[in-house]
Amino acid sequence: MIVVKFGGSSLAGPERMLAAARIVAMHRQREEVVIVVSAMTGVTDALLTLAELALRGSLSWRATYDDLRGWHDRTLAALTTYRGSTPTLTLDDLWRAIEADLASLVCDDTGNSRGETVAVFSAWGERLSIRLFTAALAHFGGEATAFEDAPVIVEHARGGVGHRWKASVAATREWLCDPISNLLALRQTPVLPGYLALTEDGAYTTLGRNGSDYSAAIIGAALDASAVYLYSDVAGIHDADPRTAPHTHLLPVLSYDEASLLLADGARVVHPASLPPLAKRGIPLRLRSSFDPDAPGTDIGGISIRITRTPASSVALLAPAQLAAGCAAKVGRPDAF
Ligand code: ASP
Ligand code: MG
Repeated sequence: MIVVKFGGSSLAGPERMLAAARIVAMHRQREEVVIVVSAMTGVTDALLTLAELALRGSLSWRATYDDLRGWHDRTLAALTTYRGSTPTLTLDDLWRAIEADLASLVCDDTGNSRGETVAVFSAWGERLSIRLFTAALAHFGGEATAFEDAPVIVEHARGGVGHRWKASVAATREWLCDPISNLLALRQTPVLPGYLALTEDGAYTTLGRNGSDYSAAIIGAALDASAVYLYSDVAGIHDADPRTAPHTHLLPVLSYDEASLLLADGARVVHPASLPPLAKRGIPLRLRSSFDPDAPGTDIGGISIRITRTPASSVALLAPAQLAAGCAAKVGRPDAF
């Protein structure tokens, strides 16, 4: 079984949703798939704005809400009418819950900090996305089920200063294993929300901005996935920033240590916290573009000739171009394994 996660730009509207669903269908021909989704592009930001406006008592939240609702409803309508089928899926109950949440934001009595309350509210984007993506998957046969709760469990971090939470692979495994195995046994593809998490005390929380890569990694580790795929609008990690450098090379294969160094160095392709839980279990992380799914991406970990021979500290001494050339020369095509 593999975990496949799609970022916001891979899900932005009906066409992108269908392209992502086609990728899932391709994977499903070979193995079982558990899906993790982000909110559609821009939705988390819009929800944060909405919550801030509501908290300030400003009535102008309505326009933002209407835009957001319109985009999601139109996406669902397009996904359900393409097939000429009667729409059975609805987002109406979610909109009711979102409106109720907005009303309660004004008189928040959960004891949470304002920042935390607003962050939890912003995770509605992922809850909307799981429904929409389930509708997209219906186009490619096979049944899909939206997992309508927070999939990742976070625990109080021991030691350190201040109040901190840490995602727990063990607690997530205990929480997720049965429901996910049951769905897979029924040949249902589970669609889980990224970003949203549950504390061990039973309160909703989030894994922080851009946290859905981390969600996919924790879920992959908890379910003993054979690989975790992250589909976004870039194929993988380059040896320099493609937005500023004139010539860059995609790095086809990296060890976990090499990838960590490049991420620490500013490559913003993957949430850096995603690597340790996978590295610990030897689960490969495969980065791909949903805009060009057959193109090579970056494969991190798993089988890597360099990983056992290259001490992490020496990676920093290699020029990025050498790193790329070395990887390509020694390991060959990224999909070779
Ligand atoms: N939707 C959340 C964000 O925009 C989480 C994610 O996409 O990774 O930060
Ligand atoms: Mg992302």
